[in-house]
Amino acid sequence: MVVTEFEDYKQPVVVHRDNGTGNVAEIFISMMHEEYERLTDLIHTDEEMKPLSAAQRHAHYAAANCYLCNELFTEDNPRVKDHDHYTGEYIGPAHFTCNFERQTDKHLPIIFHNFRFLEDGIRNAR
Ligand SMILES: [Zn+2]
Repeated sequence: MVVTEFEDYKQPVVVHRDNGTGNVAEIFISMMHEEYERLTDLIHTDEEMKPLSAAQRHAHYAAANCYLCNELFTEDNPRVKDHDHYTGEYIGPAHFTCNFERQTDKHLPIIFHNFRFLEDGIRNAR
């Protein structure tokens, strides 16, 4: 099962039962690798920013403060357009440094429930 805000990347629950071959753990590990490959593409997506609407452009240049740290823009740390690298949508006016430092979390959390049974399967597969 993959839980994400991106509809194209959601995956349903998949159940594999031991059919006597004892390879359930191997199938699970194989599927985890496939998900890793698929989701790695999503994590490294880097869409160019879409053109701003007139309202966004006006708000961007009218803003005196960075939307990330709320401090004033300065000559040394000017205003830049921050955008969502997955969708390409403009987010807001940010300091050059704040925008640079803001990074999207690229960790893939994997949550196991009742892992003991899988652990037994991995141990038995060896
Ligand atoms: Zn800032």
